[in-house]
Amino acid sequence: MVKRVCRICSLVSETEKQFCVECGTSFFDDGSQSTSGVSTVANSKATASLVIGVLGFVLFGLVLGAIAIVLSSMAKREMRQEPSRYNNKGAATVGLVLGIVDLIAGAFFVGAIF
Ligand SMILES: [Zn+2]
Repeated sequence: MVKRVCRICSLVSETEKQFCVECGTSFFDDGSQSTSGVSTVANSKATASLVIGVLGFVLFGLVLGAIAIVLSSMAKREMRQEPSRYNNKGAATVGLVLGIVDLIAGAFFVGAIF
């Protein structure tokens, strides 16, 4: 007979039941799974693209805008290869848009000086 201890109510079960008779918690549920059942991570390049894109509004628009666009395209390529792994596709898209806006704003800024 298998002994299982409920992780919620600490009831010791000596039956073959897959669920705790006291609180209904599954003994085979480790509690870490997401609602989709697939664990995802944030793509760091997408996040960096977003952050740099925002920074580009304030300073070095041409440089940071270009970096944001490059990081975003790299992130999007990684996301195409492993679509189910990453959960921040929006960040890559926003980073790309911000990068383009930064470039345009930076170009106007440079044009205003010279
Ligand atoms: Zn229980």
